[in-house]
Amino acid sequence: MKKNYLLTPGPTPLPPEICEALSRPIIHHRTPQFQAILKEVGENLKKVYQTSNDVFILSSSGTGAMEAAVINLLSWGDQALVIEGGKFGERWTELCEAYGIKPVVVKAEWGKALDPEVLAEYLKKEPGIKVVFSTLCETSTGVTFDIKKFGEVVGATNAVLVVDAISGLGAIDIKMDEWGVDVLVSGSQKGFMLPPGLGLISVSPKAWKLTETSKCPKYYFDLKVAKKAWEQTDTPYTPAIGLVIALNEALKMMLAEGLENIFKRHHKLAEATRAAMKGLKLELFSSSSGSDAVTAVKVPQGIDGEKLVKTMRDEFGVTMAGGQGEMKGKLIRVAHMGYISEFDIILGISCLEKVLKRMGYVFEFGAGIKAAEEVLAK
Ligand SMILES: *Cc1c(COP(=O)(O)O)cnc(C)c1O
Repeated sequence: MKKNYLLTPGPTPLPPEICEALSRPIIHHRTPQFQAILKEVGENLKKVYQTSNDVFILSSSGTGAMEAAVINLLSWGDQALVIEGGKFGERWTELCEAYGIKPVVVKAEWGKALDPEVLAEYLKKEPGIKVVFSTLCETSTGVTFDIKKFGEVVGATNAVLVVDAISGLGAIDIKMDEWGVDVLVSGSQKGFMLPPGLGLISVSPKAWKLTETSKCPKYYFDLKVAKKAWEQTDTPYTPAIGLVIALNEALKMMLAEGLENIFKRHHKLAEATRAAMKGLKLELFSSSSGSDAVTAVKVPQGIDGEKLVKTMRDEFGVTMAGGQGEMKGKLIRVAHMGYISEFDIILGISCLEKVLKRMGYVFEFGAGIKAAEEVLAK
């Protein structure tokens, strides 16, 4: 027998309440029943986004909402800036280039955050920049960027701040309105505890002005069309009805717990995970800006990282993520977001210890679990 445990930074495990909602018979979307759900979802999404702006629901994975941000704000030849500190920062660059926008790329070393002062200097040098693209939690490196500071820096200019919070939202605090985030993008399969399939995007009045002049080609992801429909509590095309109904349940669960409690819970799980890794003498990939949604640790010298992740998954049913891009084979990434609980973390660490020991890594057996438990018992 093999039991499966998902500890990856997307998709994340589904609570039974969500599985139940997903198993209900389908209803039609142009009905008062579905409209009532859409209305409730819209109101609750604003609370989770911490904004007074509408949040549009797209039928796509998170990247679709990222693409919507690029094509609704910009035109061919426009100036934009991308803060790139990992695989998902790179995605902003690739998206821009696909539409003939050549961004100024500001690189943060993988595993490190970006000093907001560096961003301020770039914006001073290049006053024509219309949009700054950034990431809340860079899932490929386990780093959280200082979006509050980015908001202060960008807010003092004519540029707008776009944040990919696909893995961060619902795990790490981000106050869209208060921090001056102009466009906030997320997806369903991480902090929201849902299957993949929904892209969510909210646009501030400052950013909305750019949609009036944007000439990038667009059809399915045209936010002006989405906005017009949304004014009638509707969507332009068939929404992912089942996922929206499940999102309604997820939002109710999240708001019943309260955002502050959710962030505290994620922080504690992250602290426990980081302590466990230190207990195992593993080096955290990010020493100072470690994310509360996912922890990345370096695979120790002499251990085959890909084999480690594969053995945990195929032999013991514990799925963690490996490294991506330039860190392929060099990292283990453990998620602690959404429905992942403290005992899931203990279980994951236990499996990691077991496989590390078998692969010949020398450490005090049980030290990771002990360190995590000490944090969790506080
Ligand atoms: C998962 C993730 C994405 C990609 O989302 P998809 O749903 O796979 O399209 C983008 N950015 C970040 C930070 C992510 O964690």
